[in-house]
Amino acid sequence: MSSSVKGMRDLWGDELRWFRRIEETAHRVFGAHGYREIRTPILEYTEVFKRSVGDSSDIVAKEMYEFLDKGDRSVTMRPENTAGVVRAMVDHKLLVNNDPQLLYYMGPMFRYERMQAGRYRQFWQIGAESFGVASPESEVESLAMLFDFLQGLGLKSLSLSLNSVGTPESRPAFNAAFRAFFDARADRFCEDCHRRIETNPMRILDCKNPGCQAALEGHPTIVEFLDDASKAHHTRLKELLTTLDIPFTENSRLVRGLDYYTRTAFEVLSSDLGAQSALLGGGRYDGLVKQLGGPDTPAFGWAIGLDRLAMVLKQLHGEAPFEPAPLLIPLGEAASAKALQLAREWWSAGLRVQLETRGCPLKKSLQSANRMGMKLALILGDGEFEKGTLAVKHLETGAQEEWAWNDVPSRLKG
Ligand code: AMP
Repeated sequence: MSSSVKGMRDLWGDELRWFRRIEETAHRVFGAHGYREIRTPILEYTEVFKRSVGDSSDIVAKEMYEFLDKGDRSVTMRPENTAGVVRAMVDHKLLVNNDPQLLYYMGPMFRYERMQAGRYRQFWQIGAESFGVASPESEVESLAMLFDFLQGLGLKSLSLSLNSVGTPESRPAFNAAFRAFFDARADRFCEDCHRRIETNPMRILDCKNPGCQAALEGHPTIVEFLDDASKAHHTRLKELLTTLDIPFTENSRLVRGLDYYTRTAFEVLSSDLGAQSALLGGGRYDGLVKQLGGPDTPAFGWAIGLDRLAMVLKQLHGEAPFEPAPLLIPLGEAASAKALQLAREWWSAGLRVQLETRGCPLKKSLQSANRMGMKLALILGDGEFEKGTLAVKHLETGAQEEWAWNDVPSRLKG
């Protein structure tokens, strides 16, 4: 065995430190909003995704890690986490009282994707879902949290791209108008779009094919065909965003890739790396909980990919701040017992110290410390042991000094 599975990679070093930074920021910011973490299994019965994400989506049609387990049940490694979270909410009957349930998750997702830069077959997402509230206020609360999270990570040039995809009730009117528009120039659309006009016409709006995008010029927009309640919802949402100074633009071609979205659909755009690009998307999915066998429950949520976010942060800020702990090197048996004792005191005082436990020659320890990028070696030899001190070597400069044991906490903090 010489390599990891195609599309799956190890996380370590600087990239993992960025992941940790992102995750810690998420726990802090989401916790402040009252969101609680949920962790669902990586394997779910395939039905969970087929019934939620939708058979016509690329994810279900082409990208699922789906197999029969030893009991011949079809299971799938989660390609996203919303379906699993909803399944859990329904299983635990957490939605029956109509209390708002604010939840977030983070973890690995799996999609059998074509290989390309920045796309992996195991990748990570963080997402937040709010259940039980249909109001535009709940959407703005979630979006404000998302902006605080991204700004907390040092992203600055953020804006929202916004659309409403209407409701199952208002969609037939749009579909009819769009069908007429499509039929009048059908030869300009790609084969996939010809399939979509039958299965999910809205999806034509975000076809990646430049020819289709050109053919869409002047298309009927979903917003024109909204029912009154959805129209009022959309207007109120925009007013609230303006009140909070969250910048947005309307984008009539923005539709989410999954079948269960209703009303608000959005993406967050960033121009922190030059050209504006989408960092993530999300929206309202009022139909999903019922579709998965739960009570009729409105919901709003989003998910962001960590792989790409970590890459953006690295490009913006360089390496994630990191300093290896100093290495405490005892020389001889008596010193090594004392070093364990001292280190334990310092660890419980919250200090960072790594202990050399190999009992090897000093030279070898110092070479390892250099290779690991350590800045300080704290050496406890016979002479120091007797005086209650340490010989402290600054590995970058070679300078050496002596610290009393008692002074170590304040010195290390300095
Ligand atoms: P989606 O669930 O497709 O809307 O994607 C949500 C987030 O997950 C986006 O921010 C994507 O960048 C990220 N994402 C989706 N698929 C992959 C993948 N194969 N590799 C890395 N990130 C992904």
